[in-house]
Amino acid sequence: MSAIDDLPPLRTVIASHGLSAKKSLGQNFLLDLNLTAKIARQAGDLSGCDVLEIGPGPGGLTRGLLSEGARRVLAIEKDVRCVPALEEIAARYPGQLQVMIGDALDIDPLAHLSPPIRVAANLPYNVGTELLVRWLTPPTWPPFWQSLTLMFQREVAERIVATPGSKAYGRLAVLAQWRCEARIAMSLPPEAFTPAPKVSSAVVHLTALPSPKFEADAEVLSRVVAMAFNQRRKMLRSALKGLGPDIEDYLHTAGIKPTERAEQVSLEGFCALARAVAAG
Ligand code: SAM
Repeated sequence: MSAIDDLPPLRTVIASHGLSAKKSLGQNFLLDLNLTAKIARQAGDLSGCDVLEIGPGPGGLTRGLLSEGARRVLAIEKDVRCVPALEEIAARYPGQLQVMIGDALDIDPLAHLSPPIRVAANLPYNVGTELLVRWLTPPTWPPFWQSLTLMFQREVAERIVATPGSKAYGRLAVLAQWRCEARIAMSLPPEAFTPAPKVSSAVVHLTALPSPKFEADAEVLSRVVAMAFNQRRKMLRSALKGLGPDIEDYLHTAGIKPTERAEQVSLEGFCALARAVAAG
C-alpha cells in the first residue's frame, strides 16, 4: 500500500509490469507518491475539473491527480507497455480515468474532455516545448484549458517566466506571458527521478487570462517576436528588416528605439510593435 492510495508502490508496479525506462521515450519516472501529490496540488482545485495528462508512464502523477480529487483524468501515453499499470489505477477509481495510447502530438483530446479543463503533466522533454507552444497558440482565446501545470527542464522553465533584460528572455516568455500568468511552482533535483536525468527540473504553472494583457494580433505578434529573437544580438532595425522598409517608423510608433535589441523590449513594447506592423 502506498502513501496516497491503496495501490502498490510504484517500484512494485514497475517491476511487476517490466517497465524498464526507455530513453527514446524520455522516460524519467517519479516514484515518490507524496511528491506527485504535491505536484498535483500545484494545479489548483481539481475537484470539479477534467484533467488532461500527457505521458502518465506507470501512473505516479496520475495517482496524485486522482488522490487530490480530480473529477476525471484523460491520460495520453505513447508506450503501450504502461497499459496494465494504468488499468489498475482505472479499476481503483471507477469511471474517473480514461487512457488513450498514442502520440500526444497526433491526438486531439477535446472530444473526450468536459470543461473546466486543466492540464497537468510530467512531459517527455522531447515533446514538451512543442506541446506548450501549441497550447499557448490556439485558434481562439480563451483556450480549452484553465491552467497548465507542467514539468520542464529547469532551463526551459526559466525561459517561460523570464523578464526583459535576462538571457532567458525570448519568444517563449512573450508567448507565455502575453495571455497567461506564469510562475515556477516547484524545483526538483535530478535525483527526484528514476533514472536521474543530467539536469534539474521545475514545475511551471500557467493560468489562462480571460483576455491578453495588451492588444495585438496573435499571428503578427508571433512573427515579430520570432524574427526579433532570431537575431537577438542585432539591433532591432536590422533584425526586423524582413518586416519591410518602414521598420524604423513602426519601431518609432511603438516607442522602441531602433538601436535596442530584442531582449530589452517588454511584452507591452512587442504588442505595440505588432499593432504598428498590423496597421502598416
Ligand atoms: N508521468 C510519469 C511520471 O511522472 O513518472 C512519466 C513521466 S516521463 C518523463 C514521460 C512519459 O511520456 C513517458 O511515460 C513516455 O512514455 C511518455 N511519452 C513520451 N513521448 C510521448 C508522446 N509523444 N505522447 C505521449 N506520451 C509520450
